[in-house]
Amino acid sequence: MDWIADLAARIEGATLKDEASRAAVASDFGRIVERKPAVVVRPASARDVAEVVKFAACNSLRVTARGAGHSQSGQSLSDQIALDMRSLDQILDLDERNCTVRCQAGITWRNLLEKLLPLGLSPPVLTNNLDVTVGGTLSTAGVGVASWRYGAQADHCLELEAVTGEGKILRSSPSSHRDLFDALRAGLGQFGVITEVHLELRRHQPRVCTFYLLYDDLQALLGDLKALIEEARFDYLESWCVPLPQGMKKIGGERQPFAQWFFPLHATVEFSGGALPDASEKLHGLNFYKYVHTEESSIAEFFTRLDPLFAFWKRSGFWDYAHPWMECILPWEAASFYIPQVLQNFPPQALAGGHILLWPARGSASSVSLFARPEGEAVMGFGILPAVPKALLGEALPRLERASEAALGLGAKRYLSGWFTFNADQWKAHYGDKWTALVNLKRKYDPKTIFNPALMNR
Ligand SMILES: Cc1cc2nc3c(=O)[nH]c(=O)nc-3n(C[C@H](O)[C@H](O)[C@H](O)COP(=O)(O)OP(=O)(O)OC[C@H]3O[C@@H](n4cnc5c(N)ncnc54)[C@H](O)[C@@H]3O)c2cc1C
Repeated sequence: MDWIADLAARIEGATLKDEASRAAVASDFGRIVERKPAVVVRPASARDVAEVVKFAACNSLRVTARGAGHSQSGQSLSDQIALDMRSLDQILDLDERNCTVRCQAGITWRNLLEKLLPLGLSPPVLTNNLDVTVGGTLSTAGVGVASWRYGAQADHCLELEAVTGEGKILRSSPSSHRDLFDALRAGLGQFGVITEVHLELRRHQPRVCTFYLLYDDLQALLGDLKALIEEARFDYLESWCVPLPQGMKKIGGERQPFAQWFFPLHATVEFSGGALPDASEKLHGLNFYKYVHTEESSIAEFFTRLDPLFAFWKRSGFWDYAHPWMECILPWEAASFYIPQVLQNFPPQALAGGHILLWPARGSASSVSLFARPEGEAVMGFGILPAVPKALLGEALPRLERASEAALGLGAKRYLSGWFTFNADQWKAHYGDKWTALVNLKRKYDPKTIFNPALMNR
């Protein structure tokens, strides 16, 4: 195609149109949607990104920014120009005294963390998977086991440099181009391509102690979580729903596997060395069924604690299965009713190499405008994160869709890195009273709708 040669002549970075390069970015971690780009661009600078965007705008082409491609509904795919942002991966300025870092958006959290840890610094929130890009998670929000306290990763941006749909390179912050700053964070790459970020960091303690608690009663867990959040007794809270298979029972007239569900809670506290935090004090008054284990580790080991699990998913082939992950944020009151309803007939084997996560949070911990959450001070994140062989996708998708609809019916909001198939009304409902402002922002910052038009049903 001649336009690719024209585009290549305008930029310093690589333009790749060979089959292997295009195929490598034709799918995402979801492995459900496929869209092969005509060209993959690896920009060498923000100026390159601006040239690509201007070129696309003049030639009615579509562009999608792609980080590490861990989305699950094709959010990071393009059928025309895929901007592989991983080529912009430099740390530009690490200000140890003021606890901030300026870096390019394509760097992974792992590579950033590697430079921060020797200084005793870290981002307030880290995602479970560190091999995702800073730009990618800021574009979805970025939540983790510290989110109950610190909100989303997108809450800790001081400034963002981005290329808008007209090819302008703009720096936005709470005091400059505020509307763009708010649109970029959790904006799914719809309003601009983030090229550089200035992030707030925090000083952490060097060691952590994790108490492994097991609950056999969801209501007891919810009560304890609420208290732990109110008292800020731990630094990190991580919880799951795990099945103990009970054989088969009749579900809708058919005998199907079912499970008794248990709920591990890992409650972690940072400390500076010396004596371990006192278990009897930290666990006082909690209503767990069993205190299973205490694990002491360095903070670095804690941040990378799930690496062995992801490595196992890769070795076993689960990583290459389809991942229709269904994450939602429930109003706290709905969690005690909704979660047991979903679990009671959930076939345990349907999770395969995956899990069901719970992440309790304070609604007010985040102020990211486009990170949709239900009203209320306490909210509960719930994610069914299965790995599904292609042959079983036809069974799994309607089940997950029903779970999603039931959650939305109870006032939940979906977390938009996962698998979802919103129609126009659902997009509007997701953003609620922000929808009209969002449409206007889209007109202002991406007037020719070149950024991933497959999203938001345009
Ligand atoms: C094993 C695993 C564990 C995970 N754990 C967590 C977790 O703990 N917490 C959590 O919040 N998420 C988690 N996720 C989800 C993941 O963090 C999100 O999907 C995230 O968006 C992925 O980042 P990425 O770099 O792969 O982005 P991509 O998937 O490449 O892109 C995601 C979206 O961001 C846009 N985008 C990417 N880069 C830019 C940019 N520079 N400028 C503008 N838009 C851009 C894309 O267009 C797309 O819409 C997990 C995913 C996996 C596979």
